[in-house]
Amino acid sequence: MVKKMADHVLRKDELYAPFFIDMLEQEDFKTSFPINEKLTILLGGKIDRVDRKEDVVRIIDYKTGKDENSFSSITSLFDRDDDKRNKAAFQALFYSWVYDRVKGNSNVKLQPGLINRKEIFNDQFEYGLNLKGESIQDVKYLLPEFENSLVVLLTELFDPKQPFDQTAKVRTCEYCAYKEICAR
Ligand code: SF4
Repeated sequence: MVKKMADHVLRKDELYAPFFIDMLEQEDFKTSFPINEKLTILLGGKIDRVDRKEDVVRIIDYKTGKDENSFSSITSLFDRDDDKRNKAAFQALFYSWVYDRVKGNSNVKLQPGLINRKEIFNDQFEYGLNLKGESIQDVKYLLPEFENSLVVLLTELFDPKQPFDQTAKVRTCEYCAYKEICAR
């Protein structure tokens, strides 16, 4: 399966070529981010791949599952009560946000996207994320709203007055790495 996936990735790459690979699984891709006057935190991750063709930079996340490449709003990506929250789209936007803060090049279009197992075998596969059915050609216009939502989330997370609660959705606990210490 891995070999088949790799073959299909290369086939799609051949169709997209010529392009440059700028990053592959680059470690330490981080940005300092002040969430208020007193607290600055380090945010980042390991982006699977960044490539560049003319003025388009693609921020790519490989997925072995069936993650969807569409979402309805930035708000929906932060909605913890939504069982169908698109975590993969959140991740791709988060990496784009980090990339934009670190590289900050206004002359390029930033296109986050997923290459997943479900889509890679589809000949009609089109790279990119869709917002309300529209393909995102340059995600930068969404990043200020994404950043605002991130500030709200992180402010709550770092607020000592806000206790950590166990989730009411017990199904979430099935594969949780913390269930031993959480005593669920
Ligand atoms: S087991 Fe994990 S998901 Fe469930 S309540 Fe505890 S920390 Fe939350």
